[in-house]
Amino acid sequence: MIRIDILTVVPELLESPLNYSIVKRARDKSLVEIIVHDIREYGKGRYHQVDDYPFGGDAGMVLMIEPIFKIISKLEREREYDEVIYLSPDGDLLDQATSNMLSCKSNLILLCGHYKGIDHRIREHLITKEISIGNYVLSGGELPAAILCDSIIRLIPGAISDETSALSDSFQDDLLAPPIYTRPAEFNGWRVPDVLLSGNPKLIKEWQERESTERTKRLRPKLFNDGD
Ligand code: SAM
Repeated sequence: MIRIDILTVVPELLESPLNYSIVKRARDKSLVEIIVHDIREYGKGRYHQVDDYPFGGDAGMVLMIEPIFKIISKLEREREYDEVIYLSPDGDLLDQATSNMLSCKSNLILLCGHYKGIDHRIREHLITKEISIGNYVLSGGELPAAILCDSIIRLIPGAISDETSALSDSFQDDLLAPPIYTRPAEFNGWRVPDVLLSGNPKLIKEWQERESTERTKRLRPKLFNDGD
């Protein structure tokens, strides 16, 4: 069982992504425990302040160090964490290898930034890993955290059924997945490739491998060359 603690100032943003489909089923089966912490509960003073103006006079608000230090210290007193991850546009780009690696861990903390970001001392002293979901900027780390959770959780044995095995998905073997089809075999004059209807597992497998290779060369040439 993996335990994932997510720290956020907008817990509502995580409600839907973490409570449906495969992630929900994995939680129901106790394959993963996800606890969402509202940073505001650890905020400063009567108004539970969590953000302040940046030194240097730039625009935007910055998440303060004290509330985040309080939660992380409390959690770290309770158990040992494998990684304290900050979701950040300038972090390491998320890829399948990172998700595979994190799916083997026991305890993870995910910190979602918001507004202009977080006090840099948090990154220097409390964070062990920084992950980006792409070279673009979102309003908060909640959707990136949900994406990271989804990509990790679907890899936990038992989270998805055999026939949709995560191991046959794109990137697991440095190849993109082949095209897939379902009934009807013909729609609007558009036919499913004959080989898939042949009932010959050997021919089907060969066709899928060829398609995977061709699609990877065409759509992700760098992945294809790096995987060699
Ligand atoms: N000022 C920051 C910068 O220029 O890098 C951007 C802050 S962004 C508006 C607010 C928060 O959203 C960040 O602290 C981070 O947690 C999250 N975030 C935004 N884009 C992200 C991305 N591509 N990957 C991961 N987290 C992201």
